[in-house]
Amino acid sequence: MNILVTNDDGILADGLRVLVEELSKIARVVVVAPDREQSVIGTAISLRRPVRAYSVEPLVPEVETYSVEGTPSDSVILALGKLAKDGVDLVVSGINQGPNLGDDVIISGTVSAALQGYRYGLPALAFSVYSVDNHSLSTAAKLAVLLAKRIDSNALPTNIFLNVNLPALPLAQIRGAKVTRPASQSHSFTVEEEHDGNEARYRLRYRRVTKDTNSRTDIWAIDRGNISITPLHIHLLNKASPAITDSLFSGLLHELQQY
Ligand code: MN
Repeated sequence: MNILVTNDDGILADGLRVLVEELSKIARVVVVAPDREQSVIGTAISLRRPVRAYSVEPLVPEVETYSVEGTPSDSVILALGKLAKDGVDLVVSGINQGPNLGDDVIISGTVSAALQGYRYGLPALAFSVYSVDNHSLSTAAKLAVLLAKRIDSNALPTNIFLNVNLPALPLAQIRGAKVTRPASQSHSFTVEEEHDGNEARYRLRYRRVTKDTNSRTDIWAIDRGNISITPLHIHLLNKASPAITDSLFSGLLHELQQY
């Protein structure tokens, strides 16, 4: 299995390295990732300027690694169109520092990178954790391995695009893995005015809100100590596909804990 790994926290992020370390044990991995942090860049694509990519020292020995002067989506498009010469069977994005829940999927560079893979007809996974402590990253990376194996063995639909978030809990305290939908209206923005001499300037502030208190949302699952697995679509906010149910992930948490 050939796996493309990317992220939006940049090529030097711990979450990327831990993910590559784990996935390279079970697959041939190529890393193509932004050269700097590109969080909250959404689906931005650099159509109006040339994009440079450099072959750099591997994050993990013998894993082909490219640093891109561009966005997460640029990285995936470049990889699939040029750099990943042996082909790609799966795109994995992350592990993001900080959750990507609810409407975050619209602005997240992490989720957008996976979206590009999905648009190319590939299975695509995005992973996010609350903090980049070693335990969270290790758990998320092992979960990525388990899901990659399920995709490789056709235990999951091949046209799958999953946004996976892990709760801020030690693995032993995680209660389950739930298939969810994105909570709606999960954040809002406020604008603060600042004065720099005579010029007014503005700061956009992000604020988490919880208007959508229905069950089976990603925020609902995370708040109750579960791993949230949200199937996404090109129409990002569609409901979960009926074909993807909890039973597809039965035993997953146990397997992860035994990993
Ligand atoms: Mn990020």
